[in-house]
Amino acid sequence: MYDVYGIIGDPVSHSLSPVMHNLAFRELQIKAVYGAFRVKKEELLQAIEAIKVLGIRGVSVTIPHKESIISYLDEVSEVCRVIGAVNTVVRREGKLVGYNTDWIGVMRAFEARGVDLKGKRVVIIGAGGASRAVIYACKKAGVSKIVLYNRTWERSRKLAQEFALEAKPWEALDQAEGDIIIQTTSVGLKSKESPISSETLKNFSIAMDIVYLPLKTKFLEDAEKRGLLTIDGLQMLLYQGVEQFKLFTGLEAPVKLLEEALYDEVKKIEKELKLG
Ligand code: NAP
Repeated sequence: MYDVYGIIGDPVSHSLSPVMHNLAFRELQIKAVYGAFRVKKEELLQAIEAIKVLGIRGVSVTIPHKESIISYLDEVSEVCRVIGAVNTVVRREGKLVGYNTDWIGVMRAFEARGVDLKGKRVVIIGAGGASRAVIYACKKAGVSKIVLYNRTWERSRKLAQEFALEAKPWEALDQAEGDIIIQTTSVGLKSKESPISSETLKNFSIAMDIVYLPLKTKFLEDAEKRGLLTIDGLQMLLYQGVEQFKLFTGLEAPVKLLEEALYDEVKKIEKELKLG
């Protein structure tokens, strides 16, 4: 008997989670398979019922269900309530329990590059769902200051109030400064755009982009040219997946193997989509 896991979301056709989890299952000789299930926004409740009825052991959750799934689960971790999103569901003694590993993905991506977030002044661009996990990670790691910039002021104002940080107007982004800058908007996804001028990046020493298609976004390309240490979005994806695998199986995933496979896969997708 094989255990079944999967990802639910829409779209999921280019999801890298099946690559990661299936490879880890094979490598650790675990009898399990991981599939990609396209679940439309209005089909979430049916999908939850299906997970229960079919005995699916765990799922990754992506757009557009990360927030809405919270109210359908039997239990969710406290962190999910603070971040307002679930990206992992595990069946535990018949109950569906929600977790969030995105924030751990952010922390471990910095750790893996030898960056200690403690005491750093951080600028975050974007106030969407992913930004919340980034903010949580930064706070948990003990940064000294966070300044938030978002195109829609009302959204950043609210988020800043909720997490007790500073928000500045989008128009002031070109005067941003600090130690680390983290790009969390969807600008640069499958395009050659950056939300910030290359000139401003010289006010920082480390840049992370959470977008990973293309792997080297315009934002990261500019940062690299300015001599910053850069961290791409695949690192966050890798480490949130590694943590998810631990929740699914209780085991450590083979990180280096998964990392290589992810980078190979993204390069293939870049070619297919003519990016990069
Ligand atoms: P979201 O909730 O829809 O938020 C989108 C954010 O992008 C908002 O801050 C939005 O600003 C901003 N934005 C969109 N278009 C813009 C534009 N033209 N100019 C300026 N700002 C713009 O999305 P999300 O879930 O946070 O995801 C954001 C990105 O992160 C996506 O590309 C996603 O693929 C990526 N991501 C990566 C990982 C990973 O593991 N590496 C994990 C999660 C997400 P407004 O508020 O003004 O609309």
